Amino acid sequence: MIYLGCHLSVSGGFEKMGKDALLLGANTLQFFTRNPRGANAKKIKEEDSQALVRLMQQNNFGKIIAHAPYTLNPCSADENTRRLALKIFKDDLLRMEYLPNNYYNFHPGSHTGQGVDVGISQIANMLNESLTETQSTTVLLETMAGKGTEIGRSFEELKAIIDRVELKDKVGVCLDTCHIFDAGYDVVNNFDGILRDFDNIVGLDRLKAIHLNDSKNPMGSHKDRHETIGNGTIGLCAIFKVINHPLLQGLPFCLETPNDAEGYKQEIHMLRENSNS
Ligand code: FE
Ligand code: FE
Ligand code: ZN
Repeated sequence: MIYLGCHLSVSGGFEKMGKDALLLGANTLQFFTRNPRGANAKKIKEEDSQALVRLMQQNNFGKIIAHAPYTLNPCSADENTRRLALKIFKDDLLRMEYLPNNYYNFHPGSHTGQGVDVGISQIANMLNESLTETQSTTVLLETMAGKGTEIGRSFEELKAIIDRVELKDKVGVCLDTCHIFDAGYDVVNNFDGILRDFDNIVGLDRLKAIHLNDSKNPMGSHKDRHETIGNGTIGLCAIFKVINHPLLQGLPFCLETPNDAEGYKQEIHMLRENSNS
């Protein structure tokens, strides 16, 4: 069983989003917890969140991924931005308990000139001030392309963050194929080696989800422009190797490709046809 899905809109509610996923042939999904470029969040209706939980159980969904807004930056040089990040992060973790035992993915942040070390400690500070023993959610640090002053461009940076977190059980990693390729990891020719490095540095037990994207740019470009599957610089062959990799079985694979619903449906269908499980 492969858990395959895509990024969906939650604007019609949780249950509607689950039904949309089913129409596309998906059995996992991702959504923004709030306006991706702002901070506003809609109030959650308990019946609606329970309807999605039920739909997921009835249709054997894998874990789903909530994505923090892009503007969240726990390591900005600006103190107000950092304070807002902490507030949103805490609030999102409370909201996630309406959909228990899933993932909350976030971009670690951009240090905006403070330097990587300061950035890493500020990210860890936010986690230490917001993670709780009782939360059912695992928070995921996303691997980043290394655009501007982004942190998370290497497995070493992610490891350095995790090392400083007290409640390590609550933290994992989401590996984005476009981002790591743009960061300089050779997804095309050396995916086995990449996973070996990940295991040596972070530990494969921390790898919880995959963002499955092709890239518009060459390896090491530090750009972060996603392409539809098979139409970019990563290509079909490498993507098939990712979804069929024995070390990744059981993880949710989530598309964030530039697609409409029909495009996602076709990609999910094509990937299922080329999946061994
Ligand atoms: Fe992301
Ligand atoms: Fe991503
Ligand atoms: Zn991206």
